[in-house]
Formats: sequence, structure tokens, C-alpha cells
Amino acid sequence: MKDIKQLSVNAIHNGTVIDHIPAQNLFKVITILGLDKINSKITFGTNLESLRMGRKAIIKIEDKFFEKDEINRIALVAPLAKLNIIREYEVVEKMLVEVPDEISGIVKCMNPKCVTNNEKVTPRFRVVDKKSVTLKCHYCEKITDQEHMEYL
Ligand SMILES: [Zn+2]
Repeated sequence: MKDIKQLSVNAIHNGTVIDHIPAQNLFKVITILGLDKINSKITFGTNLESLRMGRKAIIKIEDKFFEKDEINRIALVAPLAKLNIIREYEVVEKMLVEVPDEISGIVKCMNPKCVTNNEKVTPRFRVVDKKSVTLKCHYCEKITDQEHMEYL
């Protein structure tokens, strides 16, 4: 546990720190952002204590800066996530994640008969409720709620 505490305070030179990720969704965030496929140096800590959310995770990515729509993709699994943009060891910008109006290619439609589950069609949804994160399929119009969300 000592190492993880250490990790949470270590500074990075340039890059992005994503804080307040629910611990159980750390690996979903990594997958959604494609962090398993990039060459940046990445450190993460998980099961850190958080007064606000119980157990949280934090990811530090060196030399990586995200576009707003890129980062909003994680809103589904880490709605409280906070980003610190670091340049020369200083936090130069803070960003909050926002649930986008539309989502494509992250979540599976929960309707087994949906074209996206049977053909090579990328799922697309309109976000009908941002608070609870409720998605309406662009193709079959069925609702996928958070409880039934499966990630691609
Ligand atoms: Zn569908």
C-alpha cells in the first residue's frame, strides 16, 4: 500500500492525470481511451481512499493530451473524473468530464436482435438522460441503461 500512496503523489513532467475514476472501472477507462495501445509512459494507482467516492483510481499518462470528445467517452464509466493537464510539472489546466450527446463505438446495444449485434455495424446512441446515463439506440431505438451496459 505504501507504494501506491507514493505513486499518487509523484509528479509527471508533461501529460495528463485522470483522477476520481471509480476503482472498479479503472480498466474500462484504460480500454476506452486506448491506453493499452499507446507508447506513453503510464502509471496508475487503484483502491486509493477517496472521501467523495470510497475507492478511486488515478491514471497518469506522460506526454499525452486528450481532445475533449476523446475524454468525454469515459464519462460513461467515470462521470466524476477530473483531468489535470501538466506542463513542466505544473497543473496548467483542469477539465471535468461531460457526458456527450451521442455515443458511438463504446457500448453494446442491449437488444440481441439489433443490427449492431448481428452485422458489422458500429453501435450508435443518443444520450436521453445524462444523469443516469441512459442511451437510445440509433438503429433499433431500444434503451440501454447503465445496469445493462456492456462495453465493446
Ligand atoms: Zn440497437
